[in-house]
Amino acid sequence: MLRLPAFAYSSPKSLEAVLATLAEQPGRARLIAGGTDLLPNLKHGIEEAGLVVSLKHVPGLDGVEEQSDGSLRLGAMLTLEDLANHDVVRARYPALASAAGQIAGPHHRRMGTLGGNVCLNTRCVYINQTHFWRESLGYCLKKDGSACHVVKRGKRCVAAASNDTAPVLTTLGARLVIASAARGEREIDVGDFYTQDGVFNKDLQPDEMLTHVIVPPPAKGLHSAYGKLRPRDSIDFPRLSVAVAFVLKGGAGTAADPGKVHDLHIVVSALASTPVKLRKVDELAEGRTADETLFEEIAAAAYKQCHPLTSIDGDPAYRRDMVPVYVKRALRDALASGASA
Ligand SMILES: Cc1cc2nc3c(=O)[nH]c(=O)nc-3n(C[C@H](O)[C@H](O)[C@H](O)COP(=O)(O)OP(=O)(O)OC[C@H]3O[C@@H](n4cnc5c(N)ncnc54)[C@H](O)[C@@H]3O)c2cc1C
Ligand code: SF4
Repeated sequence: MLRLPAFAYSSPKSLEAVLATLAEQPGRARLIAGGTDLLPNLKHGIEEAGLVVSLKHVPGLDGVEEQSDGSLRLGAMLTLEDLANHDVVRARYPALASAAGQIAGPHHRRMGTLGGNVCLNTRCVYINQTHFWRESLGYCLKKDGSACHVVKRGKRCVAAASNDTAPVLTTLGARLVIASAARGEREIDVGDFYTQDGVFNKDLQPDEMLTHVIVPPPAKGLHSAYGKLRPRDSIDFPRLSVAVAFVLKGGAGTAADPGKVHDLHIVVSALASTPVKLRKVDELAEGRTADETLFEEIAAAAYKQCHPLTSIDGDPAYRRDMVPVYVKRALRDALASGASA
Protein backbone atom coordinates (compact mmCIF):
# COMPACT_ATOMS: atom_id res chain seq x y z
CA MET A 1 0.00 0.00 0.00
CA LEU A 2 1.24 3.51 -0.82
CA ARG A 3 1.29 5.80 2.21
CA LEU A 4 1.42 9.55 2.42
CA PRO A 5 4.64 10.88 3.93
CA ALA A 6 4.35 13.01 7.06
CA PHE A 7 3.74 16.74 6.59
CA ALA A 8 2.25 19.62 8.55
CA TYR A 9 -1.16 20.87 7.45
CA SER A 10 -2.90 24.22 7.65
CA SER A 11 -6.24 25.47 6.42
CA PRO A 12 -6.25 29.29 6.42
CA LYS A 13 -9.54 31.20 6.30
CA SER A 14 -8.37 34.07 4.12
CA LEU A 15 -6.37 34.66 0.96
CA GLU A 16 -4.03 36.98 2.88
CA ALA A 17 -3.24 34.18 5.35
CA VAL A 18 -2.47 31.75 2.50
CA LEU A 19 -0.17 34.25 0.81
CA ALA A 20 1.58 35.05 4.10
CA THR A 21 2.25 31.33 4.67
CA LEU A 22 3.63 30.89 1.15
CA ALA A 23 5.87 33.94 1.67
CA GLU A 24 7.17 32.61 5.00
CA GLN A 25 7.93 29.13 3.70
CA PRO A 26 8.45 29.35 -0.09
CA GLY A 27 8.96 25.92 -1.61
CA ARG A 28 8.30 24.11 1.68
CA ALA A 29 4.60 25.09 1.76
CA ARG A 30 2.55 23.48 -1.01
CA LEU A 31 -0.99 24.42 -1.93
CA ILE A 32 -3.67 21.79 -2.06
CA ALA A 33 -6.97 22.38 -3.85
CA GLY A 34 -8.85 19.13 -4.64
CA GLY A 35 -5.70 17.11 -4.01
CA THR A 36 -6.42 14.71 -6.88
CA ASP A 37 -2.94 15.21 -8.31
CA LEU A 38 -0.87 16.47 -5.40
CA LEU A 39 -1.71 13.55 -3.08
CA PRO A 40 -0.77 10.75 -5.52
CA ASN A 41 2.43 12.64 -6.33
CA LEU A 42 3.31 12.94 -2.62
CA LYS A 43 2.62 9.22 -2.16
CA HIS A 44 4.92 8.40 -5.07
CA GLY A 45 7.62 10.73 -3.75
CA ILE A 46 7.52 12.70 -7.01
CA GLU A 47 6.74 15.87 -5.05
CA GLU A 48 7.58 16.86 -1.48
CA ALA A 49 5.91 19.14 1.05
CA GLY A 50 6.86 20.19 4.56
CA LEU A 51 3.54 21.98 4.95
CA VAL A 52 0.38 21.42 2.93
CA VAL A 53 -1.82 24.52 2.76
CA SER A 54 -5.47 23.92 1.94
CA LEU A 55 -7.45 26.44 -0.13
CA LYS A 56 -10.77 24.86 0.85
CA HIS A 57 -11.83 27.47 3.40
CA VAL A 58 -10.62 30.55 1.57
CA PRO A 59 -13.67 32.62 0.58
CA GLY A 60 -14.19 34.09 -2.90
CA LEU A 61 -12.31 31.49 -4.92
CA ASP A 62 -15.08 29.22 -6.20
CA GLY A 63 -17.46 31.49 -8.09
CA VAL A 64 -18.26 32.34 -11.71
CA GLU A 65 -18.62 36.09 -11.96
CA GLU A 66 -19.71 38.04 -15.02
CA GLN A 67 -17.72 41.26 -15.28
CA SER A 68 -18.92 44.58 -16.74
CA ASP A 69 -16.95 44.04 -19.99
CA GLY A 70 -18.68 40.67 -20.55
CA SER A 71 -15.72 38.54 -19.49
CA LEU A 72 -16.13 35.68 -17.02
CA ARG A 73 -14.02 35.57 -13.87
CA LEU A 74 -13.68 31.97 -12.78
CA GLY A 75 -12.41 31.20 -9.28
CA ALA A 76 -9.40 28.88 -8.97
CA MET A 77 -11.38 26.67 -6.56
CA LEU A 78 -14.29 26.19 -8.97
CA THR A 79 -14.68 22.43 -9.26
CA LEU A 80 -14.35 20.79 -12.64
CA GLU A 81 -17.86 19.43 -12.22
CA ASP A 82 -19.30 22.92 -11.67
CA LEU A 83 -17.27 24.30 -14.56
CA ALA A 84 -18.48 21.57 -16.92
CA ASN A 85 -22.13 22.06 -15.93
CA HIS A 86 -22.30 25.84 -15.65
CA ASP A 87 -25.00 27.18 -18.00
CA VAL A 88 -23.16 30.37 -19.00
CA VAL A 89 -19.86 28.54 -19.53
CA ARG A 90 -21.61 25.90 -21.65
CA ALA A 91 -23.35 28.53 -23.78
CA ARG A 92 -20.34 30.83 -24.27
CA TYR A 93 -17.38 28.49 -24.13
CA PRO A 94 -18.62 24.98 -24.97
CA ALA A 95 -15.04 23.82 -25.58
CA LEU A 96 -14.08 24.74 -22.01
CA ALA A 97 -17.10 22.97 -20.53
CA SER A 98 -16.35 19.96 -22.73
CA ALA A 99 -12.68 19.83 -21.68
CA ALA A 100 -13.59 20.06 -17.98
CA GLY A 101 -16.20 17.31 -18.42
CA GLN A 102 -13.63 14.97 -20.00
CA ILE A 103 -11.11 15.19 -17.15
CA ALA A 104 -10.59 11.99 -15.15
CA GLY A 105 -13.80 10.49 -13.68
CA PRO A 106 -16.85 11.92 -11.84
CA HIS A 107 -15.24 11.67 -8.39
CA HIS A 108 -12.11 13.50 -9.52
CA ARG A 109 -14.20 16.23 -11.16
CA ARG A 110 -16.15 16.72 -7.96
CA MET A 111 -12.92 17.17 -5.96
CA GLY A 112 -10.61 18.57 -8.65
CA THR A 113 -10.52 22.29 -9.39
CA LEU A 114 -9.86 24.62 -12.28
CA GLY A 115 -6.83 26.10 -10.45
CA GLY A 116 -5.37 22.66 -9.78
CA ASN A 117 -5.86 21.77 -13.42
CA VAL A 118 -4.21 24.94 -14.73
CA CYS A 119 -1.30 24.36 -12.31
CA LEU A 120 -1.09 20.59 -12.89
CA ASN A 121 2.36 19.01 -12.85
CA THR A 122 3.69 17.62 -16.13
CA ARG A 123 3.52 13.86 -16.67
CA CYS A 124 5.81 11.17 -18.03
CA VAL A 125 5.72 7.37 -18.04
CA TYR A 126 9.13 7.38 -16.34
CA ILE A 127 8.12 9.67 -13.46
CA ASN A 128 4.48 8.86 -12.64
CA GLN A 129 5.52 5.63 -10.97
CA THR A 130 6.19 4.46 -7.46
CA HIS A 131 9.48 5.37 -5.77
CA PHE A 132 10.56 1.71 -5.96
CA TRP A 133 9.95 1.64 -9.72
CA ARG A 134 11.87 4.88 -10.30
CA GLU A 135 14.71 3.82 -8.02
CA SER A 136 15.24 0.59 -9.97
CA LEU A 137 15.56 2.64 -13.15
CA GLY A 138 18.07 5.04 -11.58
CA TYR A 139 15.59 7.94 -11.35
CA CYS A 140 15.60 10.74 -13.94
CA LEU A 141 16.20 14.48 -14.41
CA LYS A 142 12.77 15.44 -13.09
CA LYS A 143 13.48 14.01 -9.64
CA ASP A 144 16.60 12.57 -7.98
CA GLY A 145 18.44 11.54 -11.18
CA SER A 146 20.76 12.95 -13.81
CA ALA A 147 19.49 11.44 -17.07
CA CYS A 148 16.37 11.58 -19.18
CA HIS A 149 14.98 8.27 -20.46
CA VAL A 150 12.94 9.93 -23.19
CA VAL A 151 15.59 12.11 -24.82
CA LYS A 152 18.84 10.24 -24.21
CA ARG A 153 21.61 12.67 -23.28
CA GLY A 154 18.93 15.39 -23.09
CA LYS A 155 19.62 18.18 -20.61
CA ARG A 156 16.01 19.22 -20.13
CA CYS A 157 12.98 17.27 -18.94
CA VAL A 158 10.32 16.97 -21.64
CA ALA A 159 7.49 15.58 -19.51
CA ALA A 160 4.17 16.47 -21.10
CA ALA A 161 1.57 19.10 -20.24
CA SER A 162 -1.48 16.92 -19.63
CA ASN A 163 -4.08 19.34 -18.27
CA ASP A 164 -7.22 19.45 -20.39
CA THR A 165 -8.32 23.01 -19.69
CA ALA A 166 -4.98 24.63 -20.67
CA PRO A 167 -5.21 24.23 -24.47
CA VAL A 168 -8.80 25.50 -24.52
CA LEU A 169 -8.04 28.49 -22.28
CA THR A 170 -5.14 29.33 -24.62
CA THR A 171 -7.36 29.35 -27.74
CA LEU A 172 -9.86 31.55 -25.89
CA GLY A 173 -7.18 34.11 -24.92
CA ALA A 174 -7.79 33.65 -21.17
CA ARG A 175 -5.73 35.49 -18.56
CA LEU A 176 -4.59 34.22 -15.17
CA VAL A 177 -4.71 36.31 -12.02
CA ILE A 178 -1.76 35.49 -9.78
CA ALA A 179 -1.27 36.86 -6.28
CA SER A 180 1.58 37.07 -3.80
CA ALA A 181 2.07 38.86 -0.48
CA ALA A 182 5.17 40.69 -1.67
CA ARG A 183 4.03 41.86 -5.11
CA GLY A 184 0.23 41.94 -4.97
CA GLU A 185 -1.69 40.84 -8.07
CA ARG A 186 -0.43 40.33 -11.59
CA GLU A 187 -2.10 39.05 -14.75
CA ILE A 188 -0.58 36.85 -17.41
CA ASP A 189 -1.97 35.42 -20.66
CA VAL A 190 -2.37 31.69 -20.24
CA GLY A 191 -0.47 31.35 -23.54
CA ASP A 192 2.60 32.84 -21.81
CA PHE A 193 2.21 30.95 -18.52
CA TYR A 194 3.75 27.61 -19.50
CA THR A 195 7.47 27.17 -20.09
CA GLN A 196 9.57 24.52 -21.86
CA ASP A 197 10.69 22.82 -18.68
CA GLY A 198 9.05 19.59 -17.64
CA VAL A 199 10.40 19.91 -14.09
CA PHE A 200 8.50 23.11 -13.41
CA ASN A 201 6.61 24.30 -16.45
CA LYS A 202 4.87 27.39 -15.09
CA ASP A 203 5.64 31.06 -14.62
CA LEU A 204 4.63 30.80 -10.96
CA GLN A 205 6.98 31.60 -8.08
CA PRO A 206 6.90 29.52 -4.84
CA ASP A 207 5.29 32.47 -2.99
CA GLU A 208 2.53 32.91 -5.62
CA MET A 209 -0.86 31.35 -6.21
CA LEU A 210 -3.47 31.45 -8.93
CA THR A 211 -6.67 33.11 -7.72
CA HIS A 212 -8.80 33.50 -10.87
CA VAL A 213 -9.01 32.75 -14.56
CA ILE A 214 -10.50 35.49 -16.74
CA VAL A 215 -12.04 34.41 -20.02
CA PRO A 216 -12.71 37.33 -22.39
CA PRO A 217 -16.19 37.83 -23.86
CA PRO A 218 -16.71 35.62 -26.91
CA ALA A 219 -16.39 37.42 -30.26
CA LYS A 220 -19.60 37.45 -32.30
CA GLY A 221 -19.69 34.22 -34.30
CA LEU A 222 -17.12 32.40 -32.11
CA HIS A 223 -17.04 28.64 -32.67
CA SER A 224 -14.95 26.39 -30.45
CA ALA A 225 -14.41 22.69 -29.72
CA TYR A 226 -12.12 20.31 -27.86
CA GLY A 227 -11.01 16.79 -28.75
CA LYS A 228 -9.04 14.30 -26.68
CA LEU A 229 -7.36 11.03 -27.63
CA ARG A 230 -7.31 8.56 -24.75
CA PRO A 231 -7.53 4.79 -24.34
CA ARG A 232 -10.91 4.86 -22.56
CA ASP A 233 -13.70 7.42 -22.56
CA SER A 234 -13.16 8.04 -18.86
CA ILE A 235 -10.44 8.52 -16.23
CA ASP A 236 -7.51 8.62 -18.69
CA PHE A 237 -5.16 11.56 -19.21
CA PRO A 238 -4.88 12.77 -22.82
CA ARG A 239 -2.45 11.10 -25.20
CA LEU A 240 -3.17 13.98 -27.51
CA SER A 241 -5.56 16.90 -27.17
CA VAL A 242 -6.72 19.53 -29.63
CA ALA A 243 -8.54 22.80 -28.95
CA VAL A 244 -9.82 24.99 -31.77
CA ALA A 245 -11.52 28.38 -31.84
CA PHE A 246 -12.44 30.57 -34.81
CA VAL A 247 -14.90 33.28 -35.75
CA LEU A 248 -17.31 32.61 -38.60
CA LYS A 249 -18.54 35.60 -40.61
CA GLY A 250 -21.05 35.94 -43.43
CA GLY A 251 -22.66 32.90 -45.05
CA ALA A 252 -26.10 31.44 -44.45
CA GLY A 253 -24.90 29.09 -41.72
CA THR A 254 -25.81 26.09 -43.93
CA ALA A 255 -23.58 23.23 -45.07
CA ALA A 256 -23.49 24.77 -48.56
CA ASP A 257 -22.74 28.27 -47.29
CA PRO A 258 -21.19 28.04 -43.82
CA GLY A 259 -19.36 31.38 -43.86
CA LYS A 260 -15.72 32.50 -43.79
CA VAL A 261 -13.16 31.65 -41.10
CA HIS A 262 -11.41 34.44 -39.20
CA ASP A 263 -9.01 34.51 -36.26
CA LEU A 264 -8.36 30.75 -36.12
CA HIS A 265 -6.48 29.40 -33.10
CA ILE A 266 -5.47 25.76 -32.72
CA VAL A 267 -3.61 24.48 -29.67
CA VAL A 268 -2.38 20.90 -29.43
CA SER A 269 -1.28 19.40 -26.11
CA ALA A 270 0.14 16.29 -24.41
CA LEU A 271 3.08 16.53 -26.84
CA ALA A 272 5.52 18.75 -24.92
CA SER A 273 5.89 20.53 -21.59
CA THR A 274 3.60 23.31 -22.82
CA PRO A 275 0.43 23.32 -24.88
CA VAL A 276 1.62 24.05 -28.45
CA LYS A 277 -0.02 26.77 -30.53
CA LEU A 278 0.05 25.74 -34.18
CA ARG A 279 1.88 28.24 -36.38
CA LYS A 280 0.53 29.84 -39.55
CA VAL A 281 -2.79 27.98 -39.57
CA ASP A 282 -4.47 31.35 -38.92
CA GLU A 283 -2.92 32.77 -42.11
CA LEU A 284 -3.90 29.64 -44.03
CA ALA A 285 -7.54 29.89 -42.97
CA GLU A 286 -8.14 33.65 -42.80
CA GLY A 287 -11.15 34.65 -44.91
CA ARG A 288 -11.64 31.20 -46.43
CA THR A 289 -14.84 29.14 -46.48
CA ALA A 290 -15.17 26.74 -43.54
CA ASP A 291 -15.34 23.55 -45.57
CA GLU A 292 -13.67 20.15 -45.83
CA THR A 293 -11.06 21.41 -48.31
CA LEU A 294 -9.84 23.97 -45.79
CA PHE A 295 -10.04 21.50 -42.88
CA GLU A 296 -7.89 18.98 -44.82
CA GLU A 297 -5.23 21.64 -45.46
CA ILE A 298 -5.18 22.72 -41.83
CA ALA A 299 -4.95 19.08 -40.69
CA ALA A 300 -1.98 18.48 -43.01
CA ALA A 301 -0.23 21.59 -41.63
CA ALA A 302 -0.87 20.34 -38.08
CA TYR A 303 0.67 16.94 -38.86
CA LYS A 304 3.90 18.59 -40.04
CA GLN A 305 4.24 20.60 -36.82
CA CYS A 306 3.49 17.88 -34.23
CA HIS A 307 6.11 15.37 -33.06
CA PRO A 308 4.93 13.25 -30.10
CA LEU A 309 7.58 11.84 -27.74
CA THR A 310 7.69 8.63 -25.74
CA SER A 311 7.05 10.53 -22.49
CA ILE A 312 3.37 9.63 -22.80
CA ASP A 313 1.80 6.19 -23.15
CA GLY A 314 0.90 5.20 -26.67
CA ASP A 315 2.99 4.69 -29.79
CA PRO A 316 4.32 8.14 -30.90
CA ALA A 317 3.84 7.33 -34.59
CA TYR A 318 0.20 6.43 -33.95
CA ARG A 319 -0.31 9.57 -31.88
CA ARG A 320 1.19 11.65 -34.70
CA ASP A 321 -1.15 9.98 -37.21
CA MET A 322 -4.02 10.95 -34.94
CA VAL A 323 -3.09 14.67 -35.05
CA PRO A 324 -4.79 15.42 -38.41
CA VAL A 325 -7.72 13.17 -37.45
CA TYR A 326 -8.37 15.05 -34.20
CA VAL A 327 -7.74 18.48 -35.75
CA LYS A 328 -10.34 17.77 -38.46
CA ARG A 329 -12.81 16.41 -35.91
CA ALA A 330 -12.40 19.47 -33.70
CA LEU A 331 -12.88 21.83 -36.66
CA ARG A 332 -16.02 19.96 -37.74
CA ASP A 333 -17.35 19.90 -34.16
CA ALA A 334 -16.74 23.63 -33.78
CA LEU A 335 -18.57 24.33 -37.04
CA ALA A 336 -21.48 22.06 -36.09
CA SER A 337 -21.79 23.33 -32.53
CA GLY A 338 -23.03 26.77 -33.54
CA ALA A 339 -21.79 30.15 -32.41
CA SER A 340 -21.26 31.05 -28.75
CA ALA A 341 -24.28 32.69 -27.15
C1 LIG B 1 -6.98 8.69 -12.10
C2 LIG B 1 -6.75 10.14 -12.46
C3 LIG B 1 -7.06 10.56 -13.74
C4 LIG B 1 -6.85 11.90 -14.10
N1 LIG B 1 -7.17 12.28 -15.38
C5 LIG B 1 -6.97 13.58 -15.75
C6 LIG B 1 -7.29 14.00 -17.07
O1 LIG B 1 -7.79 13.23 -17.89
N2 LIG B 1 -7.02 15.28 -17.42
C7 LIG B 1 -6.50 16.18 -16.53
O2 LIG B 1 -6.31 17.33 -16.91
N3 LIG B 1 -6.20 15.81 -15.26
C8 LIG B 1 -6.44 14.54 -14.85
N4 LIG B 1 -6.15 14.15 -13.56
C9 LIG B 1 -5.48 15.09 -12.65
C10 LIG B 1 -6.39 15.90 -11.74
O3 LIG B 1 -7.48 15.15 -11.29
C11 LIG B 1 -6.94 17.16 -12.42
O4 LIG B 1 -5.95 17.77 -13.22
C12 LIG B 1 -7.47 18.18 -11.42
O5 LIG B 1 -7.99 19.30 -12.11
C13 LIG B 1 -6.42 18.68 -10.45
O6 LIG B 1 -7.07 19.63 -9.61
P1 LIG B 1 -6.94 19.54 -8.03
O7 LIG B 1 -7.75 20.67 -7.49
O8 LIG B 1 -7.26 18.19 -7.52
O9 LIG B 1 -5.38 19.85 -7.89
P2 LIG B 1 -4.40 19.52 -6.68
O10 LIG B 1 -4.00 18.10 -6.74
O11 LIG B 1 -4.93 20.05 -5.41
O12 LIG B 1 -3.18 20.45 -7.14
C14 LIG B 1 -2.48 20.20 -8.32
C15 LIG B 1 -1.25 21.13 -8.36
O13 LIG B 1 -1.67 22.47 -8.52
C16 LIG B 1 -1.23 23.27 -7.40
N5 LIG B 1 -2.33 24.19 -7.12
C17 LIG B 1 -3.61 23.88 -6.87
N6 LIG B 1 -4.35 24.99 -6.80
C18 LIG B 1 -3.51 26.04 -7.01
C19 LIG B 1 -3.68 27.46 -7.06
N7 LIG B 1 -4.88 28.03 -6.89
N8 LIG B 1 -2.59 28.23 -7.31
C20 LIG B 1 -1.37 27.66 -7.51
N9 LIG B 1 -1.15 26.32 -7.47
C21 LIG B 1 -2.21 25.52 -7.23
C22 LIG B 1 -0.93 22.27 -6.29
O14 LIG B 1 0.05 22.77 -5.40
C23 LIG B 1 -0.43 21.09 -7.10
O15 LIG B 1 0.91 21.30 -7.46
C24 LIG B 1 -6.34 12.82 -13.16
C25 LIG B 1 -6.06 12.39 -11.86
C26 LIG B 1 -6.26 11.07 -11.50
C27 LIG B 1 -5.95 10.64 -10.11
S1 SF4 C 1 10.97 13.47 -19.75
FE1 SF4 C 1 12.91 12.56 -19.03
S2 SF4 C 1 13.50 13.76 -17.25
FE2 SF4 C 1 11.36 14.22 -17.68
S3 SF4 C 1 10.19 12.84 -16.39
FE3 SF4 C 1 10.44 11.82 -18.36
S4 SF4 C 1 12.29 10.60 -18.17
FE4 SF4 C 1 12.26 12.06 -16.48
